Amino acid sequence: MPDLHDVVDEIAEKMGQREDRGAVATYIPQLARVDPRHFGIAVATADGTLACAGDSEIPFSIQSISKVFTLTLALGVVGDSLWRRVGREPSGNAFNSIAQLELEKGVPRNPFINAGALAVTDVILSGHPPREALGEILRFIRFAAQDDSIFIDEAVARSEKATGFRNAALANFMKSFAVLQHPVDHVLGTYFHHCAIAMTCRQLALAGRFLAQSGRNPDTGFSLVSPERARRINALMLTCGHYDGSGEFAFRVGLPGKSGVGGGILAIAPGRASIAVWSPGLDAAGNSHLGRMALEILAHKMKWSIFGD
Ligand code: GLN
Repeated sequence: MPDLHDVVDEIAEKMGQREDRGAVATYIPQLARVDPRHFGIAVATADGTLACAGDSEIPFSIQSISKVFTLTLALGVVGDSLWRRVGREPSGNAFNSIAQLELEKGVPRNPFINAGALAVTDVILSGHPPREALGEILRFIRFAAQDDSIFIDEAVARSEKATGFRNAALANFMKSFAVLQHPVDHVLGTYFHHCAIAMTCRQLALAGRFLAQSGRNPDTGFSLVSPERARRINALMLTCGHYDGSGEFAFRVGLPGKSGVGGGILAIAPGRASIAVWSPGLDAAGNSHLGRMALEILAHKMKWSIFGD
């Protein structure tokens, strides 16, 4: 087996040289300002190794990757009854599609498309004012990463709030079907803020370890979720984590993964490693172009695909 540090260094060098970097998201103005030349990678293995390269210490907007953590929290709050509010099937549509929601009477296909994540955020708001619900999300991520310096980028949250008309449409639409129980502006405000959490690749790889290790956080020895729940979250990441690019991601990389329009991807090699990559340029489905490519090389070289060598 090749040395992980060598593989990670080599990937960062290769990705740094590529000209085809995709296009940064422009629909959230603050994200449009990010330099597309960044590339970072961090891998936290089950045996405690941490391999980082490139811009692995620069915080970026995790955006939809936050939906993995909100899903974990919401399952902790309401357990499997969450599945009465949101489905578990891949959508085959864009992350912010409205058409499907109408056909399915306001019940989102899965927890990772925007509509599904808004429903999940609504669950986390139960019994809490928005500020506390947000505090709970941030505390959970800090705990998983064992890093209290993780923060919310208020400029990104404001930027998204100012332009989030489509998310507002999705939330209002779900409210009309009584799929949301809290005021639409509370759900949206909390959602925009958890999407605006900023993390480095290193912090994100560390935060994802519980999913690679049957729910256990190796630093504390405590379980964040049961092994069964970790397995199921991984299954959803595999089938739904890259929206209508999920099939292609499984085909090329073969790992559960969750992307964000900030250009980050959290990928899990169950039993082996938690991996974070970041390159801001996106492909047509809104997933990091070089991030996916980097994971493809890593999974191949380390023989980490869940589908075999
Ligand atoms: N905050 C973004 C949005 O709601 C998240 C989308 C994403 O990362 N795919 O549009």
